[in-house]
Amino acid sequence: MINTETETAVTVSKKYFDVNKIREDFPILRKKVHNKNLVYLDNAATTQKPEFVINKINEYYTTMNSNIHRGVHALSQTATEAYERARIQIKQFINALGKNQIIFTRGTTEAINLVASSYGRANIKEGDEIIISHMEHHSNIVPWQLLCKEKNAKLRIIPINDNGELIFKEFEKLVNEKTKFISVVYVSNSLGTINPVKRIINYAHQFNIPVLLDGAQAVNHLKVDVQDLDCDFLAFSGHKIYGPTGIGALYGKVELLDAMPPYMGGGDMISKVTFEETTYNELPHKFEAGTPDIAGAIGLGAAIEYVSNIGIENIIEHETSLLEYSTKQVSEIPGLKIIGDAKEKAGVLSFVLENIHPHDIGTLLDFEGVAIRTGHHCTQPLMQRFNIPATSRASFAMYNTKEEIDVLVNGLKKTIKVFG
Ligand code: PLP
Repeated sequence: MINTETETAVTVSKKYFDVNKIREDFPILRKKVHNKNLVYLDNAATTQKPEFVINKINEYYTTMNSNIHRGVHALSQTATEAYERARIQIKQFINALGKNQIIFTRGTTEAINLVASSYGRANIKEGDEIIISHMEHHSNIVPWQLLCKEKNAKLRIIPINDNGELIFKEFEKLVNEKTKFISVVYVSNSLGTINPVKRIINYAHQFNIPVLLDGAQAVNHLKVDVQDLDCDFLAFSGHKIYGPTGIGALYGKVELLDAMPPYMGGGDMISKVTFEETTYNELPHKFEAGTPDIAGAIGLGAAIEYVSNIGIENIIEHETSLLEYSTKQVSEIPGLKIIGDAKEKAGVLSFVLENIHPHDIGTLLDFEGVAIRTGHHCTQPLMQRFNIPATSRASFAMYNTKEEIDVLVNGLKKTIKVFG
């Protein structure tokens, strides 16, 4: 048994926030796009990776590549230790009680599908109801829709107001004896709204209804403490918190995870296999069938270490100032309307410009070196709610600066000129 619990994290930098120093850690930020400095404001889609993370992945492939958990040889032991250490880093980062509550997945999408397929199939019956909100990412709509179709259950939707905030009173009205599960986004990727998830969880637990939080945009912008929140499940993706793509995690309460059937069958998730019957491995391995993304997990662990050493509080403070500054700057642009004006908001700025399609805005900004996202952001029902086909979205990360926001604003002004 490998005990990595006692290992301490390597210190990357002091808890002192210097955005210019941080930018030096991200090699891609030195890149030119169309001969302009890259201004990367598409962080809600995916964040850039610091050299520390890139080096850890490189180190894995150059010094320890081998399969985990099964080998007695030195490489396998080292790789297993590094992989399990990443699990502990996640456990500490979200303040889970045990590392067996952290299941590696491909990301948020797979984590939600895991719960919908495993917990959902075992517990949801005909006539039951599952509550989600109007601002969910498709990843937190479609898995529940599939489950409801299969079980003849009903999906109920928490409405939102014109500012892009959940209407709590309407949520309370939706909860009834048929409600068997609630799955809500913590921070909206399209609006930046920070939802009152603790309040939702408290209310749901009065009726013994489990709550899953889609934390894809939360772990990188907020201090997430699963014990304090008392959520039953939390899903997130590594690539949105400066880690690699294709890796993420599901946190779950032990009693729920223990009672859930496996999601996928294969190697590593078993205890004993005969043709007649198979018994399953203990948590978390029961849910990790097959060879996992070992390098990805190690990369995610490194990303969490990097973020922890910068200090999530410092990141929040910096991103809040960027959001305030950018909101003020774009508000002065005639014909620009911000979509999503919640009181509690994280670093996402979605907007529409009168008579200019978001794709045209995105294309012209690209010529200025500015990367933003345009489209429905995988939240089509939310776009329908605001009666728009798409928005332009700038989303911030710890390495963004006010000067970059100025470049964005100037680019928007140029765009307006071009379109008359
Ligand atoms: N949920 C939210 C709020 C998101 O922003 C995203 C990605 O944009 C997802 C879920 C899906 O994440 P992934 O594609 O990494 O599984």
